[in-house]
Amino acid sequence: MELKSILDVDSLPKRWYNILLDLPERLAPPLDPETDEPIKREKLERIFARELVKQEMSSERYVDIPNEVREMYLKIGRPTPLFRATNFERALNTPARIYFKYEGETITGSHKINTAIAQAYYAKKQGIERLVTETGAGQWGTALSVAGSLLGLKIRVYMARASYLQKPYRKILMHVYGAEVYPSPSDRTEVGRKFLAEDPQHPGGLGIAISEAIEDVLKDENARYSLGSVLNHVLMHQTVIGEEAKLQMEKIDVQPDILVGCVGGGSNFGGFIYPFVRDFIRGKEEYEFYAVESRAAPSMTRGIYTYDFGDSGGLTPKIKMHTLGHTYYVPPIHAGGLRYHGLAPTLSILVNHGVVKPMAYHQREVFDAAVLFARTEGIVPAPESAHAIKGVMDLALEAKRKNEEKVILFNLSGHGLLDLKGYEDFMNNEMKDYEPKEFPVLSQMSLESR
Ligand SMILES: *Cc1c(COP(=O)(O)O)cnc(C)c1O
Repeated sequence: MELKSILDVDSLPKRWYNILLDLPERLAPPLDPETDEPIKREKLERIFARELVKQEMSSERYVDIPNEVREMYLKIGRPTPLFRATNFERALNTPARIYFKYEGETITGSHKINTAIAQAYYAKKQGIERLVTETGAGQWGTALSVAGSLLGLKIRVYMARASYLQKPYRKILMHVYGAEVYPSPSDRTEVGRKFLAEDPQHPGGLGIAISEAIEDVLKDENARYSLGSVLNHVLMHQTVIGEEAKLQMEKIDVQPDILVGCVGGGSNFGGFIYPFVRDFIRGKEEYEFYAVESRAAPSMTRGIYTYDFGDSGGLTPKIKMHTLGHTYYVPPIHAGGLRYHGLAPTLSILVNHGVVKPMAYHQREVFDAAVLFARTEGIVPAPESAHAIKGVMDLALEAKRKNEEKVILFNLSGHGLLDLKGYEDFMNNEMKDYEPKEFPVLSQMSLESR
């Protein structure tokens, strides 16, 4: 039966895949912002849990998933199902077959819990008392709050003020799980006060909230920072998605031609495709990989590849990636998880080498595709995931024009049941698109990086 492919408990992956050794070039080291030299390990360990720093630069191709983490993966809904979108195919009248891996079936409704559990586990094991983090729309904050409550760790979340005010439900969820949540910019940190001085109603953003979380951590010996995307260890934890999807496609004996996902920092997409990229790079399989971003945060299609900060305040180590400049203010699109100026360094390399092809869309065309998907397949996708659906739609229509029976597999990173404000605005015709004309910071940076 190829409508749905599920895995039993024993097929849950036993190890994460680390792509570092298989990349077409070496990953550039993170730099110490004070010296512009490769950052010392001790400095990174003051920010992140020790084991995560080790994983970030690991030279092992596979890392065993600890048993406790695998048990928690089972509790939170892994392995997740893989479906065929037959009604959606019919609506598009395409010869392409469309399959999707569905991360919306985890208890927090997205993939973020996959790394949250791993990060909280290693922090707890090290004796750390508190994890501090940022969140945009609240998916990541919720995931880390669950992980913290399951493992007995305190969680503190800086949440972009615009979301804090407009999207109360994720904040309530985080409170249910026992986390502290502060609107960002806040008056709790120097960085926060600086942005508040510019604008007391500052809507905030991921970059600012990251700065606040890091400043908070540096003031507390027993706290560490936790990042929900971008870094190698985060994408590695997410490879459970791709490993499961591979097994699930094998189970129904279907071979994908095209793989698609949405990209904010790159973690769901990286985690989904890297196990397939492994075979592609070794010449074992032919795949096409498409990464879909927002035209309001076009780091792949309009950014430059250079060293930049991960946060707006310039507190993080510098990492080499596709970026729009760390001070770029990403317009308030409903896909809060895509509002980030940078892109995972490992994914940036694959984009540079043409392995991954970027696509970018406006939010109205994305919601249009999301509504069609909801009405044909029954699932209301998260606005972030809906970007992937729009990409799939165009690729399926292209297959129709060329009369090709392509097999398209995409990652549906989460459901949108807590994102209904976006759907309301879209259906009331109150949604607008944002097309940044230029990136002033970027021209400055490209001059400096010459
Ligand atoms: C956070 C989020 C994203 C974007 O983050 P990535 O790191 O690029 O995966 C995409 N989809 C959903 C549902 C999210 O919550």
